[in-house]
Amino acid sequence: MEAYDSGLKGITVYRDGCRTGVLNSIKKEVIDHVVRRERPKTTDIKIHKVKYKNLNYMVLVGLVDGKPIEVFGGLEEGLSLPTKYQSATLTKKSRGHYSLVVQLSDDPEDILKVNNVSARFPAEDIMTITRLISLSMRNGVPVSEITDQLQKSAGGMFEAPAIFARVLKNYLEDEDLVQMAALKVCPQCGGEIEIRRESGCLIETCQNTKCGWINSKCS
Ligand SMILES: [Zn+2]
Repeated sequence: MEAYDSGLKGITVYRDGCRTGVLNSIKKEVIDHVVRRERPKTTDIKIHKVKYKNLNYMVLVGLVDGKPIEVFGGLEEGLSLPTKYQSATLTKKSRGHYSLVVQLSDDPEDILKVNNVSARFPAEDIMTITRLISLSMRNGVPVSEITDQLQKSAGGMFEAPAIFARVLKNYLEDEDLVQMAALKVCPQCGGEIEIRRESGCLIETCQNTKCGWINSKCS
């Protein structure tokens, strides 16, 4: 963290793509230049409702210029919001205290205000994950890297990583997909692959037309 404050603008990330074969060694090294973003006093909020293992969760994603910078979330019972809303914002009041304002219609008076939103999601284990995700986002870690890490823990007895990975996949950008594709090779022929998004799924296609390998990952 000190490195950023003292003016260092880039870090080097080395990633090992050991799963998909020999040819990966050529593409193994990826260099990312990341810039730390400060949280503005108020962020735009996108509300996601996720059903997972018969429980309902709510995930709030804070956006700055349309890009995610923070997440909050937990069991939906902690914070019941109307399904229909126009927009929402989250304003920092003091350390750890955020106030959510949900705009319910065009009428500026028609709002729902929730003070101290974090208190609505008291589960300490989930809160730890959301803090670390937010920290990564503010420090410029691409969403694809964050979802990768979350998916490594998904499927265990602990459900939060899978829930946040599912939500954050909505925020993968085209550059993320290009970068993800650059780190992988076709498991069948070792050729280059392309990744694209299609109705909530990520479709991986081998670029070697003679091979035709295709893989679809839907969360
Ligand atoms: Zn192939």
